[in-house]
Amino acid sequence: MLEYQDIISRSSEFWEACARHTARQTARTLQTGYYCDDCARRLTHEAFNDRPPVYHGVELLGSCGLCNVMKTVASRQWFVCGICWNVVLAYQKSIVSGQAVHEYWRDNVKPSFPQLHLIEKEEVYLSPFARKSKTKRQAAESLDTLDFRVEERPPEAGKPLFHIELKSGPSAIDEMREFQLDVNDSDDIVGAANNTGLPVYVFHVQTAFEYDPPTRSSVVRGIWWTDVFTLLEHRLAVRARRGEDKDAGYYSPFAFKTIETFLQELRDKKYIQLRDRLRKTPLTLSKTGRL
Ligand SMILES: [Zn+2]
Ligand SMILES: [Zn+2]
Repeated sequence: MLEYQDIISRSSEFWEACARHTARQTARTLQTGYYCDDCARRLTHEAFNDRPPVYHGVELLGSCGLCNVMKTVASRQWFVCGICWNVVLAYQKSIVSGQAVHEYWRDNVKPSFPQLHLIEKEEVYLSPFARKSKTKRQAAESLDTLDFRVEERPPEAGKPLFHIELKSGPSAIDEMREFQLDVNDSDDIVGAANNTGLPVYVFHVQTAFEYDPPTRSSVVRGIWWTDVFTLLEHRLAVRARRGEDKDAGYYSPFAFKTIETFLQELRDKKYIQLRDRLRKTPLTLSKTGRL
């Protein structure tokens, strides 16, 4: 039985405005997603500036569009602009990608390397759209965490060894012509590596939708990995993303290897070589730092 039924008032100044845009931004597009009560509340609070839906539909059994769990959900509608709605739709696959890395670690890494602990910084950070006072480049310069950190224990407190940053997308690495990464994201990786003196591994998680109308769930099809040095050595170009005022780096997919080979990387403790290399020669941020 679903309980969350709050709706935004027609007299609200945010009627016909994007719920995720913090400052009023007219949006007459009604977006519909199927969410459980917890996730509808979470979206409202964390992503939509505490602006509740305009409508709740009937209950049904389906995959929640955020937590991906098969449970009682209902359609929920908000006014949200197209750009923000794409961000909201991507949360489900990010959550599923994070879970896939935990499963990989538990089933494959843990048995051989019980001393290596995988620590997730934050399970998918939902956020509203707001102009930031710092530029993305300035933020990258002071960043010290990425999606996961791996620590060795004992010691009890844990000795940090490296970071893992996740990127998820619909394609398998071996089907790609180019691997694309926003300059903001590569700057975050470079900034966190330099600030902490710890190397970064980048995991590409291939996700797909499975449809169970009217709901859909996200599933993981494969994981590939590379390290930040290898990735940057495979950069082919930096150019503006089509139709967006945002730069992206384009990389050869040959930078990546299948996840089975990651155990050998751990066995050889290559992260120690990468750490020494990083401390001797820090990485460089992009020159653009454009939002
Ligand atoms: Zn949910
Ligand atoms: Zn918006």
